[in-house]
Amino acid sequence: MNRITISKDYVVDILKEGQKPAAFCESGDTAVFETRDCYDDNDITEELPLGSSGHDGLENPATGPLYVKGAEPGDVLKVEILDIRLREYGIMRTSPTDGAFHHLYEKRTARRFYFEKRTEEGDKGGEECCAQEKLGFRFDDRLWVDCQVMIGVIGTAAAGDGVLTITPGTHGGNLDCTKIGVGTSLYLPVNTPGALLAIGDLHARMGDGEMMICGMETAGTVTVKVTVLKKEAAGPVREAVPFLETAEAVMSIQSAETLDEAAEAAARKMEHFLTEAAGLDDVNAGMLLSLMGNLVVCQIVNPLKTVRCELTKTVLERYGVKLP
Ligand code: CA
Ligand code: CA
Repeated sequence: MNRITISKDYVVDILKEGQKPAAFCESGDTAVFETRDCYDDNDITEELPLGSSGHDGLENPATGPLYVKGAEPGDVLKVEILDIRLREYGIMRTSPTDGAFHHLYEKRTARRFYFEKRTEEGDKGGEECCAQEKLGFRFDDRLWVDCQVMIGVIGTAAAGDGVLTITPGTHGGNLDCTKIGVGTSLYLPVNTPGALLAIGDLHARMGDGEMMICGMETAGTVTVKVTVLKKEAAGPVREAVPFLETAEAVMSIQSAETLDEAAEAAARKMEHFLTEAAGLDDVNAGMLLSLMGNLVVCQIVNPLKTVRCELTKTVLERYGVKLP
C-alpha cells in the first residue's frame, strides 16, 4: 500500500467534476492531507481580525482533490480517518452577518487559543499507567476545554456544476458534523471518475449546531485510508450517503434549505437503509427508528443546514447488518 502526502498548496474552494487532481492513488492507499484553516490561513489575531492581508481569503478551503484510481460514478468511496494532527493554536471569530448571535456583534472580533497537553490522573490515584495526556485549551481563568477534534469539510466532487466548499450536500462538503473524527469511516458518493476527494476546515472542538458561526478553527494534517466500493459491494450504504460509522453508531448526514427538511431527509435515508440492510418493512423500520434513532443538528450556519440521524450499532448487530 502506498502513502502519499498532499500539501496545502493544493487548495480548492469548490468540489466539482473535471478538477485537476492534486495527486493520484490506488484503492486501499493511505493519504495525508495538509489542511489550511477555514480562514485560508490568513493569520488572524485579536489585533487583526481580518488577518494579515486585511481581507477575507478563500472560505472554508479544502486540500485536494485526490484522484482514487478505479472509482467510477455509482461507486462509493470509503474514507477511514486514521489520524488528525493539529497546528498549535485555534481561532474563533464573530460574524456581524451570520449565525445565531450576529445581531449582537457590530464588527468581527477574533480570539486565538493555544493548545496544551494536560495530564489527567486515572482512577487508580496517580499511578503512572493511568495518567492520560489530554490536548485542550484554556477558555478563561475558570474553564479548561478538552479538544474533540473533527473535520468540517470532507467531500468528493459533486455532480454537475459542483458545490462551493462552504456548502454541504450529498457529496459531503461543509457538513460540520462533530462525529467525523479519528476512528470513524465516512462513506461518500462517487460522482465522477476518481471521486476527487478533498478535506479541510479542521476543528479542535465544536458544539452540535455550531451556533455562533465557527468551531475552534485550526489547520493540521489528516491521514485517511481510501477504499473504492463498487456498486454492488457498497450495498444499502450507497443510497444513504454521506453515511458515517463511529465506534457506537451509524448515521446518515443530510443537508437542506431548512432544518425541518434536513431532519426529514436524514430520517428517511436511515429508514430506507434499515429496510434494505435489515430486511424490515416500513412499519417496523419506522417504529424502530422512532424508538432507537436520534436526530441531531450538525450545523445551522452554512448555506444549507445539516442534520444527522443516528442509530446505535447494537441494533444493526441484532439484525446481522455488516457495513462494507
Ligand atoms: Ca465549516
Ligand atoms: Ca469551520
